[in-house]
Parts: sequence; C-alpha cells; structure tokens
Amino acid sequence: MTDHKEEKGVAKGEEALADIDVLVVGAGPTGLMLANQLGRRGVRTLIVDRHAGPSLETRALGVQARTMEIYSKLGIVDRALELGKRGTGANIWAEGRKMARVPLGEAGRRITRYPFILILGQDDNERIMGDRLRDWGLSLQWNTELVGLGQEPGHVAVKLKLPDGTTRTVTAAWVAGCDGARSSVRELSGIPFPGAPYEHVFFVADADVTGSMVPDEVNVYLWRQGFHLFFPMRGKDHWRIVGILPASLRGRDDVKFEAVIPSLRGEAGAGLSLKTCSWFSTYRIHHRSALRFRDRRCFLLGDAAHIHSPVGAQGMNTGLQDAYNLGWKLALVVEGRADAALLDSYEEERVPVARRLLNTTDRAFRLVVSDSRLAGLVRTQIIARIAAFAMSHERIQRLAFRVVSQTGIHYRKSRLSESLDGLPRSAPRAGDRFPWLQLKFRVDGAVEDLFEKLEDTRLTLIVIGQSSPPEGALDCGDLLHIHAIPADTVNEVELARAQIPRPSFYLLRSDGHIGLCGVRLEAAAVARYVSERLGLAHRSA
Ligand SMILES: Cc1cc2nc3c(=O)[nH]c(=O)nc-3n(C[C@H](O)[C@H](O)[C@H](O)COP(=O)(O)OP(=O)(O)OC[C@H]3O[C@@H](n4cnc5c(N)ncnc54)[C@H](O)[C@@H]3O)c2cc1C
Repeated sequence: MTDHKEEKGVAKGEEALADIDVLVVGAGPTGLMLANQLGRRGVRTLIVDRHAGPSLETRALGVQARTMEIYSKLGIVDRALELGKRGTGANIWAEGRKMARVPLGEAGRRITRYPFILILGQDDNERIMGDRLRDWGLSLQWNTELVGLGQEPGHVAVKLKLPDGTTRTVTAAWVAGCDGARSSVRELSGIPFPGAPYEHVFFVADADVTGSMVPDEVNVYLWRQGFHLFFPMRGKDHWRIVGILPASLRGRDDVKFEAVIPSLRGEAGAGLSLKTCSWFSTYRIHHRSALRFRDRRCFLLGDAAHIHSPVGAQGMNTGLQDAYNLGWKLALVVEGRADAALLDSYEEERVPVARRLLNTTDRAFRLVVSDSRLAGLVRTQIIARIAAFAMSHERIQRLAFRVVSQTGIHYRKSRLSESLDGLPRSAPRAGDRFPWLQLKFRVDGAVEDLFEKLEDTRLTLIVIGQSSPPEGALDCGDLLHIHAIPADTVNEVELARAQIPRPSFYLLRSDGHIGLCGVRLEAAAVARYVSERLGLAHRSA
C-alpha cells in the first residue's frame, strides 16, 4: 500500500500554495467526468489533453444504466437519451438460429429508471460532458501534454508542454491520471501495469446493413471461429459491428471492411445485405490492471488503471464510475472538510471492481474467441443453450442485468461500509448502491422517485419507521440531508419489495452507496461514523 503519512501531515495552508487544487490529465470520458464532479463542487481544477481537440472516433458506444443515473445527477441524461438509441433486448444467435433473448427492459424494470443499454458513441458522450464543463466555469486546455512530475510535500510539481512547444511547471495539490492506456502519470509514478495483449485482432465497423438482426436490439452471433456483435445505432439500418478478424486476415495491416464481409455473411445469414460503411478500424487489445491506483498525490482512473476486452461494453462505464467514486472524496479533502485518509478508500473500493471485471471479461472473452475446435463447439452449442435456459429465468435475468448495467457494484468490504447489528441478512447492506424506490415523502404528497430527491453533493440520511432527528442535531452542518419516510401503504409495499425493514435507517454517501445502516437510529452512531470513517471535521451549518 502507499505510504500516506505525507498527506496526513499536510496542513490545508500548504495545499493552498499549489497553483491549482486538482490537475486532471486527459480529456477522455474519465477525465471529463472527474472534472465535472470537481467543477460542480467548486474545486479549482485544470483539465489538459495532449490532443488538438475532441476525438471524432466513436470507440465505446454502450452506456450502462448506472452511468445514466450518474448523468441524471449531472443534468446531462436528457441530452444523452435524445442523441442515443435505446437497446432494450439482446439476442444470441448460433449458426444462423436465434437461441435466446435477454429482455433488458423487463429484467431491469424494478432496478433502475433506465432499464436498457443506451447506444451512444464515446464522441457524443465526451461532447456532452465537455459542454457541461463550461457551466462550472472550467475550460479544457488542448494541445497540452504532461511530460514530467515530481511529488513534493503538499503538492505535485507538474511539467506541461504547451501548444507553442514551450514547457511550464505548475503545482497541483492532487493529480488525476485519466490519460488512457499509455498513461504518463502511471509511468512517471513507476506503477507497474501487468497483463498481456490478446493475440486476436478486433475490427469495428459502422455500416448500413439489413439482415436477420432484431431491430433496435443488440444481436450477438456466435460461430465456430468467433463472434460478431451488432449494436443498433441512430438511423435506419445503421449498425455498429464488432468482431474478431478471421485467422486468415491476422497479421495484415491493410485489412478493409470488404475483407470481413464473407465471414459476416457466413454466420449472420445469407440475407445479410451490406450497403455503406462509414468507419472501419482494426485494433489489438490488452488485458492489464495497474498494481496500485495511487501513488501519494497522484491517482489513476479509467484506462490508465485497467484495460480489458470490450466484451460487455464495460470499459468506458468503469472509468466513469472510477471518477464518480473519487470526485466527491477529493472535493471534501480539497475543501478541508475531510481528512486525506478518506482518499485511501478510492483504491480499496475500485481495485477489486477492476480486477473482477478483468477476470470475468477475460474468461468470457477467451471463450468467445478461442480458436480450438472444442471451443467452437462449446460456443455454438453449449453457451448458446445455457444462455437460452438461463435467460428464461427471471432471477437470472435480473442478476445478469445488475452485473452488466453496473448497478450491482458494491463496496461491502470498504472501510467506509458499516452495517450495524440487527438488520436482516436480506436487507440492503453497507457498501451497496441504495435501491431505486418510488416513495411518498409526505403522507399527503405524491409518489416520487427517490433518486431524483437524492442530492449527490451531500450525504443523505433515510429514516424509516422512527422519528428523525433535526438536521442540526447530527453535527454534520449543511453536508447532511434527511428524508424521513412516513408510514403509508405505498411506502410499505415499496420498502418490502427492497427488503428494507421498519424500523431502520440508512446513511448514504454522496455517490448513493450506503455508508452506515442499522435498525434504531442513534445520533451518536452517525456522528462517530462521520468523524471516524469519513474523517469529516464537525461543523455546524
Ligand atoms: C477502436 C476502439 C473501440 C472500442 N470499443 C469499446 C466498446 O465498444 N466498449 C467499451 O466499453 N470500450 C471500448 N473501447 C475502450 C474505450 O474507448 C476506453 O475504455 C475509454 O476510452 C477509456 O476512457 P479514458 O478516458 O479512461 O481514456 P481515453 O479515452 O484513452 O482518454 C485518455 C486521454 O488522455 C490524453 N492523454 C494521454 N496522455 C496524455 C498526456 N501525457 N498529457 C495530456 N493528455 C494525455 C489522450 O489524448 C486522451 O484524450 C474501445 C477502444 C478502441 C480503441
């Protein structure tokens, strides 16, 4: 683990000597999300990118439900929904036959307001987040590359190469390396990035195609030599096709879309008609995870910290969630409201998520790309049948939805998670994302969406079946918002569905995960949690 003695010994005054509070290196999706989270909390943030302007490549294009929930809090979900296309189901095909359908819409209906995968290119995601930066008074500095860094007591001295080719040193209290797979922050911090490249080469094509694909849904074609994914894109008959190059084309660097058409026709059916192709690219991928996500005042997020196969459309979403996890913690520390020890929980919470993801995508990927005859048979006969069987069970559908949508990610083992005695095992636990509920907040009021009511710049205390203390009594100042849930039939049904007992209480962190929970609310337990676990300095409103 990193030795954080230095940070703990640094007074707020020393940090204030830095030119800026946080330098965000890299304006891909991860850096843009982090800059937004910091900007909306008033943190002095500089975001730089070595490129001349926004990327025009689509690259990732699956936006998961948890990301849409975060977009909603950032005020950009409507724009994303307007521009994207909703995929409400996924179909698995093997050797020309449709074997199974995963009904994303039904599986996620009670889990999130967004029970679908939104097909929206990475370039659009970046544009929407980039535009939002302006609302916090932040601007992005293009053509600016981090070329050196040195950690000093209380700050990091960063050398930036500017658009005119000269270099300038700036000091930042914290540096966030959101600078992609070849991260300079990671390399200059000496953090190893073990893993390996896959031998297979991917191709990606945006094309106008007609064929057996179920419109507006994801279509997965498994075949003896690999797989092809068809994602519906905006516009009629417009699809993103992802696959691996047939073995005969590997090793060639001049492969064009026409070369993969025979294999596409082979397994997606003779009726496949390919019209135009607006983008075609091939790329190799690696599976790697940084040994640490932090070196003292420098953090790694997104592809800088972990890269894996695009199977499951998790890469971009995982980076966005890294940023959402770190953003609120960094803001509290920069504001001097929390001890720097709070930042230790970033690595502790996000490293296991990345490792799990790497292992599952790696296993799934190996199975769907293995060249062996046996694997080919497993792919087209066994996987397809297992999927068909599993997906006929609602519980498995819901479980699959939770995993893919990232709404099931939890931090139960984190130092920030404390479940007090007395809660039934089936109840939501500390570390879980608090469930999405429709509740009445006043007996005579309307039913409202709890997630709409949560303020993700504050902590929220949800009090059920007992009297709630006045906000000032918990000694958290303006950082805490309390919702007392009144006794009401609608509420009883909804709480029972989520297996939340009455009485109980749940203290939510800014990112909607449960920090502390228990049966009887005692002000002393909340005050102790807030000061010992979150390291918040007590202050009155
Ligand atoms: C062809 C292709 C297809 C893909 N398809 C999918 C998919 O379908 N689904 C999926 O989930 N993922 C996919 N991915 C992966 C996805 O694009 C990444 O997971 C995502 O881009 C990670 O975002 P990021 O912000 O962490 O890093 P990046 O998007 O790599 O952004 C890093 C930024 O840092 C900047 N930078 C780097 N070094 C410096 C420096 N020293 N100083 C200043 N700036 C610097 C770069 O210019 C870049 O803008 C695909 C990737 C590729 C290449």
